[in-house]
Amino acid sequence: MTTALTNLLDLDPAQLVAYCGELGEKPFRAKQLQRWIHQFGASDFSEMTDLAKSLRDKLATRAFVAAPAIISDHTSTDGTRKWLVDVGQGNAVETVFIPEENRGTLCISTQAGCAVNCRFCSTGKQGFNRNLTVGEIIGQLWMAEFELRKTKGIEPGPKGERQITNVVMMGMGEPLLNFEPTVTALKLMLDDNAYGLSRRRVTLSTSGVVPMMDKLSQECPVALAVSLHASNDVLRDGLIPLNKKYPLRELMAACKRYLEFAPRDFVTFEYCMLDGVNDTDAHARELVALVKTGDTAVSCKFNLIPFNPFPESGLKRSHNPRIKAFAQILMDAGIVTTIRKTRGDDIDAACGQLAGEVKDRTRVQERMQKMTEYQQKFGKDFGRIVEISG
Ligand code: SAH
Ligand code: SF4
Repeated sequence: MTTALTNLLDLDPAQLVAYCGELGEKPFRAKQLQRWIHQFGASDFSEMTDLAKSLRDKLATRAFVAAPAIISDHTSTDGTRKWLVDVGQGNAVETVFIPEENRGTLCISTQAGCAVNCRFCSTGKQGFNRNLTVGEIIGQLWMAEFELRKTKGIEPGPKGERQITNVVMMGMGEPLLNFEPTVTALKLMLDDNAYGLSRRRVTLSTSGVVPMMDKLSQECPVALAVSLHASNDVLRDGLIPLNKKYPLRELMAACKRYLEFAPRDFVTFEYCMLDGVNDTDAHARELVALVKTGDTAVSCKFNLIPFNPFPESGLKRSHNPRIKAFAQILMDAGIVTTIRKTRGDDIDAACGQLAGEVKDRTRVQERMQKMTEYQQKFGKDFGRIVEISG
């Protein structure tokens, strides 16, 4: 009888301790192992020199460390880097790194496709394919961190300088509809023996799955971004179908409850600027009333996102002067407001375009075929990162 191999990227800190326990090892071994994997980027047990040879041999026969395989890797002229990674059965998701002066932010996907089907989102237009596993979610951070180090010529090992300082769960998919794996991955991001990121530097973005926002506040309160995109329920119903289930009143109340546990004292509202749809002065004033008065008042900042058009959407990006005028109304009301820079446009890495290449199923299939051939040829590399050009 053969036992399935365990991908150690699938295990959170407690599960790794339990796993080591099953192998007859003490908890501190799990910590060492976790550091090798998540801090030093090791996937080969023979490199883990401070583990007993007997343990390394045991691990080699029962476990492996594998992030999703890289299908493509592009860097934009502004430094934004985008990877398309294979998550099996013809599905691929994207991971995007955005370098800034004092930080490096990684945007991670949590699902292949998305069931929420927002009108302005190309991921939604793909429909829902499947939930990513813990290993596929944390594996994006693992892969990106060590690929970035490799590009900079930073040696693998303990002294490597951290490249990713912030994580946003804002890639493909609705993280709160893939709750358990997302939370496990978040816990690894925060763990001192893994990535050691502070809760304030990890942001989860949701379209507003109210009960799961409460659950997140109890299980792993990280910084929260909420995709608002509308100033009233009629408008939001038409843009985000989930609003019919969890309307603005309930959403705002959930934001307020979340803030009692959150690492920051405000919620970031994302607002996608759609020409003639949600971008008038009247909408801005309605938003001010929503977040500043009555039961729906909540401590917040606004992040205005210029819409990234895609052909089937039938929607257009608001013009820059309109976005600025809209921002001014919010700012005049005392709300901190930023207009998101569009980055990585030349490689389709901007928000909501993350599915760009995935939409082209034939090319994905072609790449998958290439990958299968590659893996058959280099069997020993199966389960490790493989790069396929073209
Ligand atoms: N599902 C989650 C997180 C992923 S989407 C959510 O909806 O919050 C990340 C952000 O990109 C969301 O604010 C989303 O509304 C926005 N977005 C999606 N499509 C977009 C597009 N075409 N242009 C600009 N922003 C978009
Ligand atoms: Fe899903 Fe977010 Fe896209 Fe809406 S915006 S379809 S919730 S990924």
